[in-house]
Amino acid sequence: MPTPILKHLQTLHDTFASLDDGAVATYIPELGRADPSWFGIAIATVDGVVYEVGDSRQEFTIQSISKPFAYGLALEHHGLKRVSRRVGVEPSGDAFNSISLDPRSGRPLNPMINAGAIATTSFVPGDSREKRERAMLGFFDAFAGRDLSVDEAVYRSERDTGHRNRAIAHLLRNADVLEGDPEEPLDLYFRQCSIAVTCSDLARMAACLAAGGIQPSTGKRVLSTHNVGRVLSIMSSCGMYDFAGEWIFEVGMPAKSGVAGGILAVLPGQLGIGVFSPPLDERGNSVRGIRVCKALSREFGLHLFNSPRVVLPALRASCSGADVHSKRRRPLRELEALARVGGKIRLFELHGRLELSSVEMATRTILRESADASHVILDLERVFDLDAAACRLLVDLRDQLERDGKRAFLACIHEKETLRTYVDGHRSVGDWEVLDRYPTRDEALDLCENEVLVQAGVRPAELPPATLAEQELCRGFTRAEITALEARLRPARWNAGETVIAQGSTADWLLFISLGEVGVFLNNSHGGETLLTRLGPGSSVGELALPDRQPRAGTIRALTPLEGGILDFAAFDRLPEEGLVQLQLKLLTNLAAVLAARLRTAAREIRSLT
Ligand code: GLN
Repeated sequence: MPTPILKHLQTLHDTFASLDDGAVATYIPELGRADPSWFGIAIATVDGVVYEVGDSRQEFTIQSISKPFAYGLALEHHGLKRVSRRVGVEPSGDAFNSISLDPRSGRPLNPMINAGAIATTSFVPGDSREKRERAMLGFFDAFAGRDLSVDEAVYRSERDTGHRNRAIAHLLRNADVLEGDPEEPLDLYFRQCSIAVTCSDLARMAACLAAGGIQPSTGKRVLSTHNVGRVLSIMSSCGMYDFAGEWIFEVGMPAKSGVAGGILAVLPGQLGIGVFSPPLDERGNSVRGIRVCKALSREFGLHLFNSPRVVLPALRASCSGADVHSKRRRPLRELEALARVGGKIRLFELHGRLELSSVEMATRTILRESADASHVILDLERVFDLDAAACRLLVDLRDQLERDGKRAFLACIHEKETLRTYVDGHRSVGDWEVLDRYPTRDEALDLCENEVLVQAGVRPAELPPATLAEQELCRGFTRAEITALEARLRPARWNAGETVIAQGSTADWLLFISLGEVGVFLNNSHGGETLLTRLGPGSSVGELALPDRQPRAGTIRALTPLEGGILDFAAFDRLPEEGLVQLQLKLLTNLAAVLAARLRTAAREIRSLT
């Protein structure tokens, strides 16, 4: 399907295809066979889609674009400390094949010039030539998400003519940057540079870096996030050789070019770009490749430093425990008390991606608005990502609230792995374990409500068993009506955890709960369940279907051992012919009143959350 982005790539391709500046590299004779008109552009998204135009499936050798990946491989296997003993991270401003070693340490200045790359290649793990080559190729395969191979003709051509690189390798041996036979890493370096790729592969490899080291199509982690950061840093400062400064100034994306005409650029977090066009400028960078990247950066505003992101507010809603209640159906007495003292509870709902600045902004509001509160809940249910800074600030905020004598909860962190890991390593003020696990927002709210009720002198009810006369649906019943209804009920009981009603099933009865508690759950879009409400003695379940007999709208499960009486809809339907039309009418009127009250509560909650 031609999407807008594809159309744009086609326009870029049409615009720059006629450009015939530059010359195909010939110092590696085999490269000279390239057709100067080859021109492909590809963009890969972090969710694994590749858009490509032109000669995007034409293979060419990766050449220097292999260098940042080889550096990543070295870091992954040996760590920065060992790697940096042999190669630095300082831009040289020299050509790629310059023989520039740090005058003091004798190390190559960075892994993007040939000297640094040959040193880097010496880190490829394996105790034989074959194993090292397999490890190296496997790593590139994982980045591209397909099996790559070495172009033997280009390899032989470079091996036989690469006298300058051979000289560099021997110099490195002389400076003890390389140990053993310098021909070995040199040969692997030649093979590494001769890996055949397409610009579609380059885009995919770049997207893997953009996605923090996880290959978007395979879902496999190829490089740690930490090392991705290092690789991208090196690409930013040294990726385009002596053009690096101008490149980052104008294009503003980490990138790497190769003498076969490829350019790979990364927009961290967003996408990978691969361009291929063999004619090079005098610095060895693809002429069309540079033009395409410049145009993309300019037209889409991709420059990393030119597009400061506006902080999105982390606070979605802030409300009071007087307005929003836990899902426990509380007796009137408690509801009245909560209307008075519920304001002691403040609930803050955070959302989106949390980072330093957004959480910091939210922190100020939270502290201000909870000044008079005794209980504070920070609900993270709608947060989809947090970075390390956000975790730190949130946990510090909670601690500070606790130190101020408040009860403070971080709710819904069970699925937030970064935060959970942080919290687990950070036992601090107060106890996280009141609920012996991370609370959901409802559990935290329920607990806070119980505490403020106790503080207000109202002891929350222990849910005593309810008689039929105490049922919501039996309000205003005469004693005779109670007896008549009782005679038509089937007693039923469930163990804790058992399903009472399954979502979607046929509805042909309702249950008056006399003992225990149930949870009403709805299937949510993540394939899980959301707790909608909790009901106890005196409430009924399954009554929603009484008027229209629609299939069950939710799942109801016993949260404790459960007892009650079932009224079959068939028995309900027979009431008029049994001379109990009045009883039937009262049941329906009470049902309407219960539903009206529920609607009002829902409307109030929606209002206070939006
Ligand atoms: N194999 C090439 C060389 O060492 C790589 C150089 C490049 O792509 N800039 O000369």
